[in-house]
Amino acid sequence: MDFRFTPEEQAFRMEVRQFIKDEIPDILKGVEEIHSDHIELEMEVVRKIAAKGWLGAAYPKEYGGQGDNNAPMTEYILLDELHLGRAAGISLTCTYLVSIIGNTLLSIGSEDLKQRFIPRILNADIRFAINYSEPDSGNDIASIKTSAILEGDEYVVNGSKRFITCADTSDYLWSLVRTEKGSRRHKGLSIILIKTDSPGITTIPFEMMNGIETCDVIMEDVRVPKENLVGIEGHGWAHLMEALSRERFTMINFKGVSGPFDRFVQWVRTAEIDGERLADDPVTRQKLARQHLDMVGGKLMQLIAASRAMRKDYIPTVEAAASKSWRATLSWGKADMALDIMRNYGLMTEECPGAPIDGLWAAEYCWAGHELSGAGGLDLNRKIIAQQGLGLPRWSN
Ligand SMILES: Cc1cc2nc3c(=O)[nH]c(=O)nc-3n(C[C@H](O)[C@H](O)[C@H](O)COP(=O)(O)OP(=O)(O)OC[C@H]3O[C@@H](n4cnc5c(N)ncnc54)[C@H](O)[C@@H]3O)c2cc1C
Repeated sequence: MDFRFTPEEQAFRMEVRQFIKDEIPDILKGVEEIHSDHIELEMEVVRKIAAKGWLGAAYPKEYGGQGDNNAPMTEYILLDELHLGRAAGISLTCTYLVSIIGNTLLSIGSEDLKQRFIPRILNADIRFAINYSEPDSGNDIASIKTSAILEGDEYVVNGSKRFITCADTSDYLWSLVRTEKGSRRHKGLSIILIKTDSPGITTIPFEMMNGIETCDVIMEDVRVPKENLVGIEGHGWAHLMEALSRERFTMINFKGVSGPFDRFVQWVRTAEIDGERLADDPVTRQKLARQHLDMVGGKLMQLIAASRAMRKDYIPTVEAAASKSWRATLSWGKADMALDIMRNYGLMTEECPGAPIDGLWAAEYCWAGHELSGAGGLDLNRKIIAQQGLGLPRWSN
């Protein structure tokens, strides 16, 4: 197997790298999540990416794309470089638009939805929030209660969602709802697109301990045109699994882990604590070598997922679950290891004068908890690997 990129792919990588250097302001670098303070600035950059044709490289020409068959790699390289350039927030916006919503619409959306939404997605002229989790339904997403009952030509939506990132700054909510009255678990679910300025929606933003913003969304008798149904009514579970696989595969990028690790190794080379050079400590060196090996394994897993995603009509569900589980475990272990090696200095945030590596590890430590739960927890992803990858039974008797 040859993991090298082609000369064209390498040239594209260099072009993206130069773009990041020239066009992404420093204030957007080092931002892990999308933050409402920066939305306008961030969208300006995303629109420049769109103008280059990079968002639509893989999309058919009839919806405003470039129709390039090799484009899954283009998408991968773009997101990879954005992470490497520490522009993770911008990468996330591109991921929402193109990789999760756009690609799922292309796969299961009606012709009307494709015509209405895909050109706007490729021009970065629209923003979406992913509206799945509820106060009592996180990983166990099949237990959601939000209902959307058809009345004439409209769904009437009632329910509450929790932790809906960007709900306050988006145009549409990509929503998982229960369209069949009295249905349970995986049955009777659907995906619909709800306009955020519809009467009956209340959005309550709040901030998590690591500065990440997210929202509660309350929907009371919200009316949604039935044309905004995505895919087939009642097939929401299958559609959700497709969208989540795309999310795990693209959002969980290894540069997001290896970038901070590389900066840490760089720092350890010369750092001293209490007059002792950290790099002289054999235990520290062993720990770093071990993390390095895990990192290489993770990068390979992601490349495997990326190369399989090149196949048309193939969604790398098991590969994405493996890559996501590995990254989550690694993020947690790496943050723990870094704080251990840095002792009290690792707890200094970027606001503390003289904080090593700009307080990176205090932030990484807070972020690592989210890595464990976002896009399905570790156990849930292991279930996918056991059932779909290893062919083990779904339930025990
Ligand atoms: C900062 C942030 C941003 C978020 N953004 C969004 C967003 O934009 N949109 C959105 O819809 N959601 C979002 N979420 C919600 C996130 O996806 C959920 O927090 C996540 O699904 C976990 O749910 P929970 O917190 O209720 O944990 P729980 O579901 O209670 O899980 C706790 C633990 O139990 C395990 N577990 C639970 N059920 C099972 C099971 N059936 N089998 C095996 N193990 C299981 C999990 O793996 C986990 O380890 C966000 C969360 C955070 C913190």
